[in-house]
Amino acid sequence: MLDRETLRRQEEELDELYKEIVLEYYRNPRNRGSLPAPTVVKEGDNPLCGDEVRLELAVDEGVIRDARFQGQGCSISQASASMLTEAVRGLSLEEAQQLYSKFHAAITGDDTVDTAELGDLEALLGVRRFPVRVKCATLAWHLLDEALRELRHTAP
Ligand code: ZN
Repeated sequence: MLDRETLRRQEEELDELYKEIVLEYYRNPRNRGSLPAPTVVKEGDNPLCGDEVRLELAVDEGVIRDARFQGQGCSISQASASMLTEAVRGLSLEEAQQLYSKFHAAITGDDTVDTAELGDLEALLGVRRFPVRVKCATLAWHLLDEALRELRHTAP
């Protein structure tokens, strides 16, 4: 049985690990830029924090072949956008929608989600305690949701 002090220290260390992953994506963002011929482009902002994100997806035969983002703002918003582009690459539209639902549920406090399936995205769940920061972390994801909705409407 761990004493309270140890538990508290572990939580702090866990937060450190989360912070490291988020900052790593922020400093070395994957898939930052734009696509030559995106299938869908979505832009949004989070006025509470001043975050801006532009998300571009290239979709072919119902599969997200490539994804890019641009933007500015806090480390959480930009790291989340970068992680998203990594996570959705190679997913079908249906799978991407499921990932969105799972991530959104987990970050808004649903404890029943199996977070192990989220990979690096799990690092973002550290912001759950801070409602304003949840908006930072979900900005890019709302754009994904909008993009998927648009693609469903335009698909044959
Ligand atoms: Zn932010």
